[in-house]
Amino acid sequence: MNNIIYTYESGVYMNITNKCPCSCVFCIRHNGDGLGSADSLWLKGSPSYEEIKSEIDNFDFTPYSEIVFCGYGEPTEELDNLIKSARYLKEKHNLKIRLNSNGLSDLINGEGSAEKLSGLIDSISISLNAPNAEAYQRVCKSRFGTDSFPALLKFAEDCKKYIPSVKFTVVDVITPEEIEECKQIAEKMGIPLRVRALIK
Ligand code: SF4
Repeated sequence: MNNIIYTYESGVYMNITNKCPCSCVFCIRHNGDGLGSADSLWLKGSPSYEEIKSEIDNFDFTPYSEIVFCGYGEPTEELDNLIKSARYLKEKHNLKIRLNSNGLSDLINGEGSAEKLSGLIDSISISLNAPNAEAYQRVCKSRFGTDSFPALLKFAEDCKKYIPSVKFTVVDVITPEEIEECKQIAEKMGIPLRVRALIK
């Protein structure tokens, strides 16, 4: 096993890459190597689709109705494998698919990446994390710089067309005023926002 599939509390998760364009101040990767059933979520390079499929074939999904793509990296960094494995999980196990994403897929993969998730991803949780481009860079330190925040908003807007449930999250490491501004952005876009506590 390559720790591609792991369980945490009552959920099951897919860890398909360690690549990420960000270095968020709250990233759980700073806390340790493992999470839940996985001793380590550090992969030996991004696994091939064949390796991912092999783990899926060897895992018992009986207790689960949903799987979440969320690991020690941004899943859309491996968009083709994300799409192929989501399709396989749906066809073989009839699972609902959730994607936790930093929303930077268009910068990683090119414009229009939300459309490619249509019919495969049932719900997406996008890390908004800040109310503007400068604050976003302070918190998330994206290698795409201040292009990141507007690209994230555009991706989220696109997701509303292709994914049945779209949500934003912020981590409570920003100021109450910034959280309020995030709420206003989310409300304006018609996307529910969840404020989550920092995992220590
Ligand atoms: S986007 Fe996610 S994986 Fe990447 S640094 Fe931020 S919290 Fe960590």
